[in-house]
Amino acid sequence: LAASDSDGVASYHQVLDQQSLRRLQLGTELEQAMADGQISVVFQPIIDARTSDIVSVETLVRWAHPRFGAIPPDEFIHLAEQIGRIGPLTDHVLDLALARCRRWLDQDIALSVAVNLSARCLAEPDLVERVQRSLRRHGVPGELLILELTEGSVVDDSVRSSTVLAELHALGLRLSMDDFGTGYSSLSQLRQLPIDEVKIDKSFVLGMSTSQGESFIARSIIELAHNLGLRVVAEGVEDELTRKLLTEMGCDKLQGFLVSRPLPDERLESWLLARTG
Ligand code: C2E
Ligand code: CA
Ligand code: CA
Ligand code: CA
Repeated sequence: LAASDSDGVASYHQVLDQQSLRRLQLGTELEQAMADGQISVVFQPIIDARTSDIVSVETLVRWAHPRFGAIPPDEFIHLAEQIGRIGPLTDHVLDLALARCRRWLDQDIALSVAVNLSARCLAEPDLVERVQRSLRRHGVPGELLILELTEGSVVDDSVRSSTVLAELHALGLRLSMDDFGTGYSSLSQLRQLPIDEVKIDKSFVLGMSTSQGESFIARSIIELAHNLGLRVVAEGVEDELTRKLLTEMGCDKLQGFLVSRPLPDERLESWLLARTG
């Protein structure tokens, strides 16, 4: 938009106003939306690259808004962070994830469940206690929970986060470095922190079948991670060629539309049944 164009400027302000209005409304509705069940989760399967066995599921939050329809998580996660409500939202997602995990356990399915942890959460003084309480409430062993962190969150305040991460690790759960390759974490940090696995960001994986450059990045990340004793998950695996390349490179786990889209609980159960026969 040209700043000199008065019409352009007016519509620019209008767009801003509509956006801030929507944000304002979503912000005030977030808490009630959780209570009303508008905020739910879906689960995306992650498989062992060699055996194709399902090893875990990633929990992804969804907001079905009565007026706006489906609101993408990227929009309201960021909003929740800004208005200081990411803590309650994370607790809500963790609660839904562990409740499901408990039900799978009751059906003799020991499936690990991954939950995304926003950068802000690491700074909350009671995070470890809340995670521990949630595990206890649902009777889920810490070994079945994976927390996915983003690189930035760990680098921002590395002394404090390494303490928090060590405490989380002591609960038995696993820590996964999400969106790996897009941030600025250093190798030494990866080595010092109690991280168990890295997830190659889908921006690299999506281009693998068409670009040698992307394949080279994926290969480098896998080699690097393995040298540090970490497991590697590739997300955004959409086609057979990419699956084949990643498996040949020794990538440990795969996630993406080729395996399955994120599924609501009932559909995950039928998906599991269909695969295990
Ligand atoms: P993410 O953690 O990197 O999650 C992976 C995203 O990639 C998901 O988008 C998933 O649906 C999508 N995806 C999976 N496989 C494929 C594929 O093969 N191709 C393509 N193109 N995309 C694929 P989604 O569900 O829209 O979530 C977007 C982001 O929102 C997540 O990125 C995560 O950063 C954030 N998010 C979602 N749920 C939560 C949550 O409960 N808490 C927090 N803090 N963040 C969340
Ligand atoms: Ca994730
Ligand atoms: Ca990711
Ligand atoms: Ca992402």
